[in-house]
Amino acid sequence: MGIDKKLVSGIIRSTILGLFLTLSIGVKANAMTIVLDPGHGGYGTSGAGAIYPPYMEKSVNLSIASQLKSELEAAGIKTYMTRTSDSEAPSLEQRAAYAKSVNADLLISLHMNSSGAHDKFGSEVWTSMYGSYYSTGASLGSSVLSQLTGLGFSSKGVKTKLGNSGDYYGIIRYGAAQGVPTVIIEHCFMDNAYDRSILDAKGTGALAHADAAGIINFVNSVGGAGASLPKSSPVVLAEGATSTGNTAGAAVNPTVKANTGAGGSSASVSVTFPKDAAGNIIYTDPQGNKGTYTPAQWNQLLSNWTYTGKPEYFIRQQRVSDLDKMCGKS
Ligand SMILES: [Zn+2]
Repeated sequence: MGIDKKLVSGIIRSTILGLFLTLSIGVKANAMTIVLDPGHGGYGTSGAGAIYPPYMEKSVNLSIASQLKSELEAAGIKTYMTRTSDSEAPSLEQRAAYAKSVNADLLISLHMNSSGAHDKFGSEVWTSMYGSYYSTGASLGSSVLSQLTGLGFSSKGVKTKLGNSGDYYGIIRYGAAQGVPTVIIEHCFMDNAYDRSILDAKGTGALAHADAAGIINFVNSVGGAGASLPKSSPVVLAEGATSTGNTAGAAVNPTVKANTGAGGSSASVSVTFPKDAAGNIIYTDPQGNKGTYTPAQWNQLLSNWTYTGKPEYFIRQQRVSDLDKMCGKS
């Protein structure tokens, strides 16, 4: 963390030396910027995450992050980390705010999974439910998962999870609130014999290398290390949202992107819904009925979108009468 002294001196120099240098420095300032978040952290075993000797999750996450940072930097991607030691324990809000402070294009939180019965295995990526935060996260996530499966892990897919205040996972919720697309990579289950055999044999370096390849492929698909991602409006958090859940954030983009392939993992479809002159979204159901929804109502419908683990339930297939009920119109 801290000020990029090179950049600051570059800006001062460019101001003195004139327009040409300003332009060349400007390209650098707008280059792809990624913040890696090694999950958990804290003194001793506090904030350790999962512990399965000799692995302690916070240390494994940090080890992957450090190696990944080197690989991304070697590919020309500006890379920062939310923590650089295992004793640091920034809050999830601080991690997201840090990503915003360095104008990050992506916040990538690195984790290792575990389950009570030790019977779960495979890699998964979690992303935001909202508009372009979803599409960016889904695209980045699939790219990373395709590399992790190359190591022998099975892919559990890119997923979203709904909580009482929008996205269930804090780092994703706070990331979107800062306007930074955020994903969680759960590399594998440290407590599962099959996943563990791969981790033991190949080491954290292999995980970092797979992440790097997936991230670099994604970055190349959106213009390369010299380009930054178009920024989206931050998702507004509903403060103090409680109980009955499914609280809407601000309306983002009336686009729904969902997996439609077998197992929910292959093809994806993007549909942009028309709007009327007042900015309300016009939806036509398969029966030909039309419904008109304010951005707030539409967002409430999107936030009711729960991941089922099956080919996703596409909002396009919903009847207007059901959508009206879901957003309290009837
Ligand atoms: Zn974790």
